[in-house]
Amino acid sequence: MEFKSDIEIAQESTPLPITEIAKQLGISEDYVEQYGKYKAKIDYNIMNDMKNENGKLILVTAITPTPAGEGKTTTTVGLSDGLRKIGKKSMVALREPSLGPVFGVKGGAAGGGYAQVVPMEDINLHFTGDFHAIGAANNLLAAMIDNHIYQGNTLDIDPRRITWKRAVDMNDRQLRFIADGLGGRVNGMPREDGFEITVASEVMAILCLALNIDDLKERLGRIIVGYTRDEKPVTAADLKAHGAMAALLKDALKPNLVQTLEGTPAFIHGGPFANIAHGCNSIMATKMALKFGDYAVTEAGFGADLGAEKFLDIKCRMAGIQPSAVVLVATVRALKHHGGVAKADLNNENLEALEKGLPNLLRHVENVTKVFGLPCVVAINAFPTDTRAELDLVEAKCNALGVNVALSEVWAKGGEGGVALAKEVVRLCEEPNSFKQSYELDIPIVEKIETIVKKIYHGAGVQLVGNAVKQAQQLTELGFDKLPICMAKTQYSISDDPTLKGAPEGFTVTVRNLKVSAGAGFIVVLTGDVMTMPGLPKVPSAEKIDVDSTGKIAGLF
Ligand code: ADP
Ligand code: MG
Repeated sequence: MEFKSDIEIAQESTPLPITEIAKQLGISEDYVEQYGKYKAKIDYNIMNDMKNENGKLILVTAITPTPAGEGKTTTTVGLSDGLRKIGKKSMVALREPSLGPVFGVKGGAAGGGYAQVVPMEDINLHFTGDFHAIGAANNLLAAMIDNHIYQGNTLDIDPRRITWKRAVDMNDRQLRFIADGLGGRVNGMPREDGFEITVASEVMAILCLALNIDDLKERLGRIIVGYTRDEKPVTAADLKAHGAMAALLKDALKPNLVQTLEGTPAFIHGGPFANIAHGCNSIMATKMALKFGDYAVTEAGFGADLGAEKFLDIKCRMAGIQPSAVVLVATVRALKHHGGVAKADLNNENLEALEKGLPNLLRHVENVTKVFGLPCVVAINAFPTDTRAELDLVEAKCNALGVNVALSEVWAKGGEGGVALAKEVVRLCEEPNSFKQSYELDIPIVEKIETIVKKIYHGAGVQLVGNAVKQAQQLTELGFDKLPICMAKTQYSISDDPTLKGAPEGFTVTVRNLKVSAGAGFIVVLTGDVMTMPGLPKVPSAEKIDVDSTGKIAGLF
C-alpha cells in the first residue's frame, strides 16, 4: 500500500489563521505577536493576568527506543486531537525541532501521518528563530570570554580550562574541534576550541527551565564558562554577559502557538538535548498550556528511563507541576526488536519475539506507577505493518497483567483514532495520584545517582571511574551537591550498555564524568561519551529537501 508522506498530508490541510486559534483560547490580542499567518508568539506577561485553575498535565513517554521508531510526538498530537473529539479542551506542548536532525537522519519532529502540527515546513525549518537567538546568546558569551582574555584577563581565566563552546544549529562535525584566535597578537589568543549544536547549549536548557525573564537572567549569570588558574569557577555574571544574553532572548522566551491538522492549539517551544540536558519543551510553554487547556499533553524525549525520569525529577520539581497521567507509547515493531528481531525483519509477524519484548514495556510501566506513583496507560501506536494477531497479543498480555492499554490509530486516522486513548486518559486523570520524585535533593551526589540506577534502571550499583570521583568531591565543595541529576546515557537500553535490550538487571553503571550546568541547575552525569556536535550521514536528508518557484517546500519528512 502507498501512503501519503507527512509533508503531503500537511500541505493538503487548511489551517485556521493563528489569530482565530488564539481567540478560541481566550487570549487577548494584546498578547498575540504574529509571525506570519499561522504562527504567533504569546507574550508571557499574560501569565500574570491569568487567574484560572491549571488544567491536567499528561506526559507522553515511551519504551526503550529502537531504530524502528516509537511515535511519541505523533501520539502526543493525536491524543490531544482525540481529547477534542470527545469534547475536552486540550492543548499540546512540544519541543521545537533542530535543523541538525532535520537535515541528518531523523527528519522532522512535528508528528506524523494525520497527527501533525502545522505549518510543518516552518516548524522544522527555523520556525520563529528561537534557536538562532539561543545560538546568538551562546556566542555572545563565547566572544566575551575570549575578549576578556585578550584585553588583559583580570579574572585570570585559564585559557586551557574554558568549558564554554561556540554553537550553531547544524550537524557539522568539522566544527567539533577547532583552533581559533590564530593570526598573531592583534587577532586574539590562539587556543583549542569547539562548537556544539545549539540544542546542546546550556542556554537552551536554561531557556526551557526559566520560570520568567528574571529567572532566565539569573540562570544565565550562573553559567560556568571555565576555571581560573587556581581552580575557581568563572561565571557569565563575572563577565557581565548575562544581561545582554537575556536581552537577546526576550522574544525567544515567548512560547510559539501553532495548531494541529485538526485545529487543536499547540505550543512548540524550546528543544534541549535529552542526554546532557533534560529533553523537554519549556516550562513556560507547559505552564501556558495548563492555563489555556483543561488537558495539556506534552512529550519527554527518549524512553521513560531518561525522558520521563528527567521530566519528573528535574522539570516538574523546578516548575512545581505534576502530571495527572502518563502515556507510555509502545509499538509492535519496537517490542519485536526488544525480543531479538533485526530491523530488516520487523515487517514480518512474530508473536514469539513480541512476547519476549514485553518485559521492557512492563519495566517502564512499573517505574511510572510504583516509583513515581502516577496512573499510566500503554498506548499501542499502530503501524500499517502490524498484524491483527500481534496487536491482540499485546493487548491481551497487558490486560492479563493488569496494565491499562489502548490502541492508538492517530497516525492513520487523526483524532478519531485517538478517542479510545483519550477516554482512558480522562479516566486516569481522576484516579488517585501519589506522585513523588524518585530521589530527594538533599542526599549526596553519588547517592542520588545510585538511587536512579537502582530504582529506575534496576542496576546493581554505580562505579565512578577516572576523574568522576574527584569531580563529585569538587562539585560538593563548590556547593552544587543539592542540585538534581541529569543522566547522560545511551537511550537504547535501560542500562548504560546499548546492547542490553529488554529489562536487564544486575548491571553496574559506569560514571566517567560529572559536570555541573549551574545555570540550568543540574549535574550532568556522563556514563559514556556524548556527542554534542553530531555529523551528517552519508546521504543526508538535506539532499531530498527542495523548494519550488512558488516557495513550496518538498522532501521534508
Ligand atoms: P518520536 O517522537 O518518538 O521520536 P515521532 O512521533 O516523531 O516519534 O515519529 C517518528 C516517525 O515515525 C515519523 O516520521 C512518523 O511519521 C512515523 N510514525 C509514527 N507513528 C507511526 C505509525 N503509527 N505508522 C507509521 N509511521 C509512524
Ligand atoms: Mg518526538
